[in-house]
Amino acid sequence: MNKESKTPKFDALLNEILENLAPHERECEWKDISKYCEKKFEITAEDINFYKLLRVPPPKLCPTCRRQKRFSFVNQINLYKRPNNAPGSKDKIISYVPLVSSLIVYDIKSYQDNFDPYTYGTFYDAKRPFFEQFLDFRLKVPQPSIIRDPSNINSEYSINGRNLKNGYYVSGGWMSEDVWYSVNVFSSRSVMDCLIVRNVENSYELVSSDKCYNCRYLYFSDNCIDSQFLYDCNNCIKCFGCVNLRNKSYCFFNEQLTKENYEEKIQELNLPSRDLLSKIKERFWEFVKIHPVRASRHERTENVSGVNIFNSRNCYDIIYARRTEHSLHCDQLLGNRDSMDASISGGSEKLYQTIGIGSDSSNVKFSFLSKFILDSEFLINCRNVQNCFACVGLENKNYCIFNYQYEPKKYFKELDKIKFVLLGKGEYGEFPPFTMSSFAYNGSQADFVFPLNKAEVQKMGALWQPDMEIDVGDMATLSAQEIPDTITEVDDEIMNKAIICEETGRPFRIVKSELKFYRDNNIPIPTIHPHQRMRTRFSHIGNYRMHDGVCELCNIKIKTFYNSKENWHLYCDQCYKDNYL
Ligand SMILES: [Zn+2]
Ligand SMILES: [Zn+2]
Repeated sequence: MNKESKTPKFDALLNEILENLAPHERECEWKDISKYCEKKFEITAEDINFYKLLRVPPPKLCPTCRRQKRFSFVNQINLYKRPNNAPGSKDKIISYVPLVSSLIVYDIKSYQDNFDPYTYGTFYDAKRPFFEQFLDFRLKVPQPSIIRDPSNINSEYSINGRNLKNGYYVSGGWMSEDVWYSVNVFSSRSVMDCLIVRNVENSYELVSSDKCYNCRYLYFSDNCIDSQFLYDCNNCIKCFGCVNLRNKSYCFFNEQLTKENYEEKIQELNLPSRDLLSKIKERFWEFVKIHPVRASRHERTENVSGVNIFNSRNCYDIIYARRTEHSLHCDQLLGNRDSMDASISGGSEKLYQTIGIGSDSSNVKFSFLSKFILDSEFLINCRNVQNCFACVGLENKNYCIFNYQYEPKKYFKELDKIKFVLLGKGEYGEFPPFTMSSFAYNGSQADFVFPLNKAEVQKMGALWQPDMEIDVGDMATLSAQEIPDTITEVDDEIMNKAIICEETGRPFRIVKSELKFYRDNNIPIPTIHPHQRMRTRFSHIGNYRMHDGVCELCNIKIKTFYNSKENWHLYCDQCYKDNYL
């Protein structure tokens, strides 16, 4: 045993568990309640190495159930009008916490000015289940209405991100300006309806694309200019409806045209018409489906398994990672290392079962939505905290348990006592239960990744919220058929009406800056609710899910985000490279 241990009783007990642990198969505890459950899962030698590194016992849930639970703790796009629970406040506020949540929600200003998390400090009671106490405690401590960085300007309807100016319904807008209805936008300007884009300008509906200018409807395409409807293209200028092209100009549905012919064709298409646009969309997706696609998308990687992994090595079972090393069962990482079961994180290490923990965090477990965290466990909404356990809403603190401040020596003594009891009772080693989330299951990212109906959600003990209808009051409504076919026929009056989504029936509105974008770019008014459009974009990246596939050329087994039921022509990275790169 480590003589330096600050939690000797816990460490001795954990060592006993880990020393006797050999690779084996075990049953997932949720095998009867989750329809996505793997039922049985492997505890591999690699897993065991991670438990030893991170100092945790093996988990009771399979990797998929662990992911499902974590994803219910983030809400990237749903905003609600709800009461402000801050003392003396009567006005309703915009919040990402839904009305059905039992949390006490403060507007950001009250949260910053009138909230002292210490006043809620309490003690652990070994006679009660830990998560029951932690939930009781969480419900007493006020929750900010939204997580937003103070560097964001004029971006009231946005979640997370940093240095975002003029963002409207943006989640994760970083160093960007003039962004609408988008998720994970980095260093971009004047973009609408985008998902995971970097260095993009003046563009509409781009998914997983970098360094593009003046483009529309691009998927997995980089370094493109003045182009529309491209799938896995690179360095293309003035191309339309193309798949798997490199270094081309004036191509139309993969056919090389002269400059004159190309421009004539584009003119003929009459793109400003919504009607014709939807026919082109249909033709484009049919065209994509007859071409091979890169099943896994690994670039500059070494020894990795998973999908969409770039500049990374020694990573297994990973969905979307960049510059990441030695990590297991993770998703959406940027510059992380030595982490297991970590989702949505950047620049951090030694994370275990976390979501939304980032910004130089290290050695953090079972925590969510916190930044700059060191050596801590079970944290919620904390910032710049070290050596804390089961705390909510703390900032710039050390040595706290349930928001109560200890002397360093006393802290470790108390920590050892609690962790020893929890481990002995089998209560230590799991991410908090669904009930600890700020969101309803169907208003969280889990709804995109692992969709469930009301009965299925309730069976799992998660929260369900009724339809997220916007109350349009006595506002006039417009059906999709009533909206003009081109933007030139639309007058400002449209901003005073609620459009009824033709797919979901949910009403939505057009705001002034958005209307200007459509006019400037000659784009017809959308007839589908922004949330539904976002859902479709997530489906293009496989909803952060992973499937088993087989390469059509060499028959090797591969991991892919393409669903095998959808008849894609899957190529492994090597076969794709041999044929297209
Ligand atoms: Zn499971
Ligand atoms: Zn192959």
